[in-house]
Amino acid sequence: MIKLNDNFEHLPQRYIFTEVGMEVAKFKKENPDVEIIRMDVGDVSQPLCEAAVKAMHEAVDDLTRPDTLAGYGPEEGYKWLRETIARKVYSPLGVDFRADEIFISDGAAADLGNLGNLFAKKCTVAAQDPVYPVYVDASIIDGRNKIILLPCTAQNNFVPELPKERADIIYLCFPNNPTASVLTADQLKIWIDYARDNGSIIIYDGAYEAYIRTSGVPRSIYEVEGAREVAIEVRSFSKVAGFTGVRCGYTVVPSDLRGFYSDGERADIRAMWDRRQHTKFNGASYISQRGALASLSEEGIVQTRAQVDYYLRNAGNLRAALESVGIEAFGGVDSPYVWVKTPGNMTSWDCFHMLLDKARVTCTPGSGFGKAGEGYVRLTGFNTKELTAQAAERLRKLL
Ligand code: PLP
Repeated sequence: MIKLNDNFEHLPQRYIFTEVGMEVAKFKKENPDVEIIRMDVGDVSQPLCEAAVKAMHEAVDDLTRPDTLAGYGPEEGYKWLRETIARKVYSPLGVDFRADEIFISDGAAADLGNLGNLFAKKCTVAAQDPVYPVYVDASIIDGRNKIILLPCTAQNNFVPELPKERADIIYLCFPNNPTASVLTADQLKIWIDYARDNGSIIIYDGAYEAYIRTSGVPRSIYEVEGAREVAIEVRSFSKVAGFTGVRCGYTVVPSDLRGFYSDGERADIRAMWDRRQHTKFNGASYISQRGALASLSEEGIVQTRAQVDYYLRNAGNLRAALESVGIEAFGGVDSPYVWVKTPGNMTSWDCFHMLLDKARVTCTPGSGFGKAGEGYVRLTGFNTKELTAQAAERLRKLL
């Protein structure tokens, strides 16, 4: 019989979003006539912006003619998109990247999981708790068993403290999913200095950077001095342009990043990632990349910003409704998520079932994002304005 990767045995039985989906399906089966409002889902509800849709239609037309057909593209993404990201996304932040430091992906999730390929198995990993589960789960699948969890609780304003032991790979996610916390430049600098002093690499998940509206909060880790020597930044068009189904993102691997093989040979991490992508990735689709490019056009930027504002308003209204009845809630600012303290110290899952049974509103149990998420649930601003308002009213009445 085939021998399997034992590391899978160390994963939680189910991925939290799968588990919530199963509970909701069960409830629907038992209560077929009840109308549920889904406030757990991190997926968008608004149609894609016009600029991106038009560009993707044109891209499909290109595929219908031999002279404009786009077959296999470059593994690392089309130059026109990489250059546009450097010019339109990073230059305005005062950060200069060459196009070949930007790698186009089919979304952030895969890269966040795959970046572990670059580092030795014995590396120690640090990750926030609670957090988007991919960093820890992917590390476990890769066989990394030294994982330091950094509790992010109301006591520390959901801002992680530096680990007491040395960490080699540090995953940071800001704006954070699920707690919605953000870091100031000074707070980020502490992590960058730690990484420089310890020879660590930070993998910075900026999937929600477009939601940052508070002035002085950096959108990119590279806005802070020293980051390009220690950080890889992973971004996505999913939450800014609604590309959750289209699939496109990008990962910045600066040419300043260096590490050592076990024989002492110094290596260029950017070149390693380039090599890895050429072997294991055949590029994001031409159509997705054309859509992503259009989302960065002048009209695309205006249209996507309006959508992000829409989701931010939903999240803000949701938080205000909860606070009006004395529920402790965080986020809804600089983030599409609202992180809610369960009433009366209920467990996250008890609260999930109560909200579903009594208000017909779903949420994501905080404990599914890590032990320190126990006693919280996550609500999202990604539903429509109308359904969010209805859900807020149901929750206000119930609580
Ligand atoms: N990072 C975080 C923090 C997320 O919440 C998500 C998706 O919800 C992702 C990454 C994945 O994004 P993508 O759709 O680009 O794979």
